[in-house]
Amino acid sequence: MNIHEFQAKQVLGRFGVPVPKGQPAATPEEAAAAFRALGQPKAVIKAQIHAGGRGKAGGVKLIGSADEAREFAARLLGKPLVTHQTGPEGRVVRRVYLEEASQVARELYLGLVIDRKAAAVAVIASTEGGMEIEEVAARTPEKIITDPVNPLLGMAPFQARRIAFALGLKDKQVGQFAALLGALYRAFVETDASLIEINPLVVTAAGRVICLDAKISFDDNGLFRHPDIRELRDPNEEDPAETEAAKYDLSYVHLDGNIGCMVNGAGLAMATMDIVKYYGAEPANFLDVGGGADAQKIAAAFRILLSDARVKAVLINVFGGIMQCDVLARGVVDAAREVKLSVPLVVRMEGTNVKEGKQILAASGIKVITANDMADAARRVVESIGK
Ligand code: GDP
Ligand code: MN
Repeated sequence: MNIHEFQAKQVLGRFGVPVPKGQPAATPEEAAAAFRALGQPKAVIKAQIHAGGRGKAGGVKLIGSADEAREFAARLLGKPLVTHQTGPEGRVVRRVYLEEASQVARELYLGLVIDRKAAAVAVIASTEGGMEIEEVAARTPEKIITDPVNPLLGMAPFQARRIAFALGLKDKQVGQFAALLGALYRAFVETDASLIEINPLVVTAAGRVICLDAKISFDDNGLFRHPDIRELRDPNEEDPAETEAAKYDLSYVHLDGNIGCMVNGAGLAMATMDIVKYYGAEPANFLDVGGGADAQKIAAAFRILLSDARVKAVLINVFGGIMQCDVLARGVVDAAREVKLSVPLVVRMEGTNVKEGKQILAASGIKVITANDMADAARRVVESIGK
């Protein structure tokens, strides 16, 4: 789960990570009031969307009056902001964030990620702040420091100082950075984060080290331990199909192709995506309905698949182990009637109650292309879209 910058700064602030003082606003009037409440001659006003690249896209501005805050908010609120991370449709700005402006002397990059190879949380740091880290990695990889943290020791002060020196920090900034990184690491571990990215981390003209931007992603599997963080979820920023799938406890991921796939078991789902690609088409999604899905859950999954306008054909590939093929067939038939199925449907099923399942499909009057095995199913579904 991702959260907005202003929320990330609130979370980090609670752990003692230095962030500028700020206030979110949902209307132009609130933005003007927030400027006055900050009580500073200058402020930065920033569009809040779950995407980076806002600066270059005109979503971040230095302002010097409540009127400017109101104007900026009026111009951006309710409209999509297109950045290189949002795709061409952009993301609708529903809030702006006002914070005290900082005078920037240096921009650095600081991130914490889960490094699976090292089986640890790793610090990613670079002197090239304010730029995309992917770009830095492609052009000047030597400017990126990667340093895994020993999970038993945690973020040791010597390690934090070593990174500070590598970033060219001096004197008081070294201690400030070490304290900041220690707090950031604690925040990462204690919130079950999967990524924290501070880009840029800045040294101000007055020599303070603070986070000007903040992004946090949380591990969904850890969210049950953090009801306060779960509250920060913004459904507007999420794929509606994924939100709907989560309601039914379906594991669904939106992809770019046009073959809707409904499968039980993550391994079979991956294999199905592979074989669809092998026969020359692209899956529109990953969808694992799980082992013990009932007819209702199957119907929900089927509706979610078909609500995607790009889906030109559906492939159901199910192995009936715990799941029974007749239950699956009933769910599919119910959903197909409800949504008036208008794209080709290829079904391959095997296992428990497969005969009953096939009978239910055959008797339903719904146009189903039945397949003998997985390869046959993939070939037929790809053919059905004229490839
Ligand atoms: P992003 O473009 O979505 O990553 O948004 P950021 O929060 O990183 O802001 C973009 C850029 O605006 C930063 O890289 C900074 O250069 C600049 N910026 C943001 N806040 C301030 C500020 O308080 N003072 C100054 N001088 N620049 C700022
Ligand atoms: Mn940024």
